[in-house]
Amino acid sequence: MSLTTLQKIPFVNLARQIERLRPDLVAAFEAVLDSRGFIKGPHVTAFETAFAEAIGAPHIVGCANGTAAVALALEAAGVGPGDEVIVPSHTFIATGEAVCHVGATPVFCDIDPDTYTLDPRDAERRITPRTRAIIPVHIYGTPADMDAILDLAGAHDLVVIEDCAQAHLATCKGRMVGSIGHAGSFSFFPGKNLGALGDAGAVATGDARLAERIRKLADHGRLSKYEHDIVGYNQRLDGLQAALLSVKLPHLRGWTERRRRVAAYYDSRLKPAGVKVIEAPEGAESVYHLYVIEVDDQQKTAAALAALGVETGVHYPCPLHRQPAFRYLGGEALPNAERAAARILSLPICGEITDEEAEYACDQVLAVLRE
Ligand SMILES: *Cc1c(COP(=O)(O)O)cnc(C)c1O
Repeated sequence: MSLTTLQKIPFVNLARQIERLRPDLVAAFEAVLDSRGFIKGPHVTAFETAFAEAIGAPHIVGCANGTAAVALALEAAGVGPGDEVIVPSHTFIATGEAVCHVGATPVFCDIDPDTYTLDPRDAERRITPRTRAIIPVHIYGTPADMDAILDLAGAHDLVVIEDCAQAHLATCKGRMVGSIGHAGSFSFFPGKNLGALGDAGAVATGDARLAERIRKLADHGRLSKYEHDIVGYNQRLDGLQAALLSVKLPHLRGWTERRRRVAAYYDSRLKPAGVKVIEAPEGAESVYHLYVIEVDDQQKTAAALAALGVETGVHYPCPLHRQPAFRYLGGEALPNAERAAARILSLPICGEITDEEAEYACDQVLAVLRE
């Protein structure tokens, strides 16, 4: 591919995905119109059953979004006011917000500089008598070190909620993420590996009683239509999003394979050139929600690539302990999270990216970094 042939490589090509699925999505929309199964009902149940099978989770409870999924799992597990919850600082704001939504206090910890996931040794140093839970985030689709986290949780009697918003189908020593801990939260925000056409989420768990508590909390604390034995929320997954997700779910495995192939190609071109890329830990298989490299000058590299038609992103530019929203916690320095935030750059990747586009993106990255 000649470097002079300017292409436009979108960061995520949702337009291409929607074009391919348009007839099926329209048919699903019409099925919901015809059945009027807008709230609860067969579309939601069908998606929950199919998603449970896809990720090997005993129970799935659909809910409004991935942020609610974290909060519902925490509250159902008994986490609340006065409790501390350990959260990696290098994540999307939602992981920290959800802890606050149940009245608990997030305690931010540092990340492993190679995998960018929660560092269990740093987490251990932050455990106090008030620590009730820990939320490993499988950031970028890279599974966190679950063996070490489960050991730590076992020793200190902590609830483990996996934040799987970026990690649908990722595996850790052959087990899919989501029900390795007590529960796992999923997001179906449109840009996630499995995305609705709006907001949607789910909680996975192997614990039937926990699943029932989550379902009740998300549906007004209902025992029956007008009988409520706890104060709950309106955080249900709606029928339309469930029906649309059921159209997309059968493609998730193929999209994931595509992401993995493109990531392997990026690795094969960028690593020999000395570019630092994210490494999945031993025995873990990433689903590459994002393909992230480190660069010396984030802004300059992003601008140069944009000028060559290659869209990039920074996920995320400010670690949570440095966010104004969490300033009240008076967070101390977390060197690995801060260093990562200043150096990361996410390259284009999605289920629809072509070989030619991945090759063009690599050519431009290598050219820009050589300058
Ligand atoms: C997207 C995301 C969430 C929140 O999901 P929403 O569906 O947008 O509420 C939570 N955690 C992480 C790591 C995410 O990437």
